[in-house]
Amino acid sequence: MKIHEYQARDLFRKYGIPVPEGELCHSVDEVKKKVSDKDKLRVVKAQVLVGGRGKAGGVKLATTKAEAIEKAKLILGMDIKGITVEKVLVADAVDIDREFYVGLINDRNAKAVTLMASSEGGVEIEEVAKTNPEKIIKMPIDPTMGLMDWQARKVALQLFNDPKQIRQAAEILVKLYKLYIETDSSLAEINPLVLTPDKQVLAIDGKMNFDDNALFRQKEIIAMREADENEKKELEANAKGLSYIKLDGNIGCMVNGAGLAMATMDMIKLYGGEPANFLDIGGSSNPQKVVDAMNILLGDKNVKSVMINIFGGITRCDDVARGLVAALDQIKTDIPIVIRLSGTNAKEGLEIIEKTGLPVVKTMSEAAQKAIELSQK
Ligand code: GDP
Ligand code: MN
Repeated sequence: MKIHEYQARDLFRKYGIPVPEGELCHSVDEVKKKVSDKDKLRVVKAQVLVGGRGKAGGVKLATTKAEAIEKAKLILGMDIKGITVEKVLVADAVDIDREFYVGLINDRNAKAVTLMASSEGGVEIEEVAKTNPEKIIKMPIDPTMGLMDWQARKVALQLFNDPKQIRQAAEILVKLYKLYIETDSSLAEINPLVLTPDKQVLAIDGKMNFDDNALFRQKEIIAMREADENEKKELEANAKGLSYIKLDGNIGCMVNGAGLAMATMDMIKLYGGEPANFLDIGGSSNPQKVVDAMNILLGDKNVKSVMINIFGGITRCDDVARGLVAALDQIKTDIPIVIRLSGTNAKEGLEIIEKTGLPVVKTMSEAAQKAIELSQK
């Protein structure tokens, strides 16, 4: 589960991480009402659950109240990566001397929560990670010890020169780790953590994700859920017994089993395509699930072709085939579909599919190549 920046800022404040004050506003009128008349440097920020808002024009500085209102007018209603901006945070802005990146993630390679930090923080951090990975410090944290003070100081020492700032930054890291663990977070980022000309170390952006499997014991976190269009679709899919995660590509995938779904995405990438989603219809033989899954896939405007990859074990291929025929009766679509069925009752399944005239292929790699080819037409 993801939360908005303004919510991450609230959590930061609760844990004693310094963050400038701000007001959440849903309309220009609300900006007029909530923001004080005093003219000062402010920043108006789109509150959407996608990254790269700054680059998309969703973060704008203002020096007067009137200007803040103007900037809010521009940002509210703006489209950022397919999401319409419905609220803005109007926050006190600061002058910035330097921007740093600090973050905590579950690093599966290190088998540990890992602290990452960089003196090259700001909107280009993804680029830095790609082109200069050595500029990102990584510190795996022993789960039995937690983030120890010396580790936090060692990392802070590589970002700052002044002992006072090193201490301030180390304290922020320890607090961020406490927040991360206590809320069952899976990602906690401050980008940027800034140094101001008057030598303050502050968080001016926050991003947090939480482990869905731990939400049952995180009442306060789950109460923060404000699902956007993408997350709503994922929740809707979950309610129907499907595991769905939207991605940025254009090849819709419908697969049974999480492992096969991952392998299918790998296969698409291997042949130069980009999957539009992860979708696991699970191990049952319920045709309704196929109807639901097709509706979800075809509801994504980016999808240009669909690859269906079924390995029948408990799932029977003829049931999937019947579900598919039923789904295509209900949904009229021009999107090309490629089907590979193998395993239990594959023969019967293929016979059902062949009657519909849909292309049927034998192997997974053939299916991926065909789906990519059809997506380009
Ligand atoms: P993101 O693009 O979604 O990560 O949004 P951020 O909140 O990180 O803002 C993007 C960039 O806008 C930052 O890296 C800063 O360079 C700039 N920015 C954000 N807040 C402030 C501020 O208070 N003062 C100044 N001077 N720049 C800011
Ligand atoms: Mn940021």
